[in-house]
Amino acid sequence: MVLGLGIAWRAAIQTGRSVPDEPFRVVGNLYYVGATGVSSFLLTGPEGHVLIDGGYPETAPLIINSIAKLGFDIADVGILLNSHAHSDHAGGLRALQEASGAELWVSEADVEVMSSGRHSRDRALGPIRFVGLLGLGRFPAPRIDRRFEDGEIVRLGPLELTAHVTAGHTRGCTSWAFPVVHEDRELLAVNVCSLRLFPFVSLVEPEAYPGIRSDFERSFSTLRELPADIFLASHTDWFGMRRKLCERGDTPGAVDPFIDRDGYLAFIDEAENRFREALEEQQQRK
Ligand SMILES: [Zn+2]
Repeated sequence: MVLGLGIAWRAAIQTGRSVPDEPFRVVGNLYYVGATGVSSFLLTGPEGHVLIDGGYPETAPLIINSIAKLGFDIADVGILLNSHAHSDHAGGLRALQEASGAELWVSEADVEVMSSGRHSRDRALGPIRFVGLLGLGRFPAPRIDRRFEDGEIVRLGPLELTAHVTAGHTRGCTSWAFPVVHEDRELLAVNVCSLRLFPFVSLVEPEAYPGIRSDFERSFSTLRELPADIFLASHTDWFGMRRKLCERGDTPGAVDPFIDRDGYLAFIDEAENRFREALEEQQQRK
């Protein structure tokens, strides 16, 4: 029964999310190298590349293959970054670390979950984290080379990525912001970590983790204040990747669909509305 439930749960969350996808250039030196549902981005540079997110454990070989398809070498990845320590974004990090020899930077507040490879350590999951005790959501814990806090800048040659800790979904959930050049213009790309609140997670006393409510509030305003031009996210459907890729080139001279500040702001608004509804409902129930 438990095994059947586990298999069904795994299949449900993985459907369409670990299927190989064609890698492509988003803009400038920014490439998509992830799977159909879980994102992975490669930012290339003359002194080494930066790779953001490792997908599920089984996504890692797809990412390595995608990097090769684009003509780059996994061994030239110097830094590995992560949005948050959940198995669908951190699962492949250890294999990618082994294949690249890259240094892995982890958000201080996600270190505990990342170093254990266990969702059961993540209080932001609420009661769902106990499903992790059945071994679900386990991932190979990677070696943590560097730890960072909010506002830190990761540099590799001319590449510069700023860590904006947008906590709530996990305590260390990190949205990465970095400049990319497109048609002689410098644009800011922002990879939104996640603003998803899991079901049954308490935002009122006792909070799922102390400060979860204020963390979410702060994350909405942090993201809104960023002058994002290119909207990216840890799941492809959140930023409409497939649709944008199809739309691209439809109208000659049109603005690239990946330049999408409106979509970025709408995503934050939607997430905040869902959060407010959940909060109101929990306050009424109290
Ligand atoms: Zn997550």
